[in-house]
Amino acid sequence: MELSRTERTRHRRLRDQGRSDRAALVEVLRAGFVCHLGVVVDGTPMVVPTVYGFDDDFLYFHGSVASRSLAGGQTVCVTVTHVDGLVLARSVFEHGVNYRSAMVYGPPRALSGADKLAALRVLTEHAAPGQWDYARRPSAKELAATVIFALSLDEASVKVAEGPPGDGDGPDASLGLWAGVVPLETVCRPPSPDPALPAGIGVPAHIAALARTPLFTK
Ligand SMILES: Cc1cc2nc3c(=O)[nH]c(=O)nc-3n(C[C@H](O)[C@H](O)[C@H](O)COP(=O)(O)OP(=O)(O)OC[C@H]3O[C@@H](n4cnc5c(N)ncnc54)[C@H](O)[C@@H]3O)c2cc1C
Repeated sequence: MELSRTERTRHRRLRDQGRSDRAALVEVLRAGFVCHLGVVVDGTPMVVPTVYGFDDDFLYFHGSVASRSLAGGQTVCVTVTHVDGLVLARSVFEHGVNYRSAMVYGPPRALSGADKLAALRVLTEHAAPGQWDYARRPSAKELAATVIFALSLDEASVKVAEGPPGDGDGPDASLGLWAGVVPLETVCRPPSPDPALPAGIGVPAHIAALARTPLFTK
């Protein structure tokens, strides 16, 4: 399925890095759980890092700082970025990064009732699968203190940069300098228990599994 192409999402520069299929968007969203929410608050742009979850149609995130201004239904831009490698070329000009990134535009909608709880579940399960069933669920008071927004995935763009430096077949290739890629990845390390844990509470299987799963790698 194709991503919708709007005036905002149409790639202009570095167009070869643009992806137009919805599967590429899902792949980028699946590979992380932190996004940057770009929003204008009282006339000043703010970019707020925040946790997200998503399903087939929406991206979900918490409100907090942004909730004030989002009440008016203003359009936001959410980005998700994964840096996969430092691209070290022969020339400084050709240096860059390999990455996968997505941008989603639209007016988020504050959720309530069963939708709010369902979104909280999606968000929790996306970052830590199994925790919704394991941890204590939010109380009515906690839910009332939480603002959850749904942002449609209808207007989104994806870019992917991969491969070696671009000067391997140019004049600088004869300089005799090393060039290549230093790969980068985010991995889960073995869990570290809370020092306040009483003896006898072991690491649950779903949390132990996190450390074995290359969740946030390519
Ligand atoms: C970690 C990282 C580092 C980068 N470093 C540089 C850098 O140093 N210099 C540089 O020129 N570029 C860099 N980029 C690429 C940068 O994000 C832009 O794609 C590029 O600068 C072109 O910008 P533009 O607004 O002219 O893009 P255009 O493609 O013309 O923008 C049109 C539309 O394309 C979409 N779009 C643009 N960029 C992205 C993106 N990254 N992901 C998803 N959708 C996108 C947006 O919807 C945007 O409105 C980097 C990207 C990442 C993820």
